[in-house]
Amino acid sequence: MDKVEILGVKIDNLSLQEVLEKVGNFLESKNKYFIVTANPEFLVAAKKDKNFKDILNYADIAVADGVGLVYAAKFLGHKLQRITGVDLFGYLCELAEKTDTPVYLLGAGEGVAQQTAEVLKQNFPNLKIVGAESGGLILSNGETQTANGNAEIINRINLAKPKILFVALGQVKQEKWIFKHLDQLSSVKVAVGVGGTFDFVAGTVARAPELMRNLGLEWLYRLIQEPGRAKRIFNATVIFSFSVLKNKVINKIKKTNAAEG
Ligand code: UDP
Repeated sequence: MDKVEILGVKIDNLSLQEVLEKVGNFLESKNKYFIVTANPEFLVAAKKDKNFKDILNYADIAVADGVGLVYAAKFLGHKLQRITGVDLFGYLCELAEKTDTPVYLLGAGEGVAQQTAEVLKQNFPNLKIVGAESGGLILSNGETQTANGNAEIINRINLAKPKILFVALGQVKQEKWIFKHLDQLSSVKVAVGVGGTFDFVAGTVARAPELMRNLGLEWLYRLIQEPGRAKRIFNATVIFSFSVLKNKVINKIKKTNAAEG
């Protein structure tokens, strides 16, 4: 199955190779494309925010960034391949370097996008990074702290002419920002929401060790590092698991009722 629906959100079951092939085609096309790197928290947020759910389902590709989605899919009887946002970011930069595709980094705290660009230059010396900026704090209504902030950001991106735009404004905000502004970004073919990726690449936040990641314990590592994320981690683990279970039971009851006429 190509897409797996979890809590009403369609997630793509694609290998990394398949995603890269699609992106290669997107870059050649006249249209604009939007990629989401979803985790359980996205789906919990989408339960309460119909607009966010619609945006996630509108995305051209939604990969399973969080291992919780893989477990949930398995519980629902489907296979889902995991592609983390950080890995996807690295492979897209490699693809961009090979294909001479200009990229732009938008988001994260002050100076982090620029630090990320420095790390990228060391790893992909021929990668064309045509811009890197924090974008400032984006408010929950999608506006910036200064009146013309978004117009100025869009103007800078349009002048730099990237084809791939990586947006790290935090989940929900970054997807809404891309959805709202993609049409105004004249050169951009592919926009990707990458969450905390710049922080990991720049080294401002440490990523969980591989063993913990493989065991699905990334949330525990983040909880130890950033106790302030407890509510978000609770959403991603307990609330998410409970919602998937509840949904499965409800669907089963509905099916049984329908069969009994
Ligand atoms: N961020 C930002 N602007 C905002 C809110 C968040 O640039 O208004 C950045 C934040 O600095 C971090 C990134 O978004 O670099 C990811 O944030 P978060 O940890 O909330 O998202 P997640 O990784 O869970 O998607």
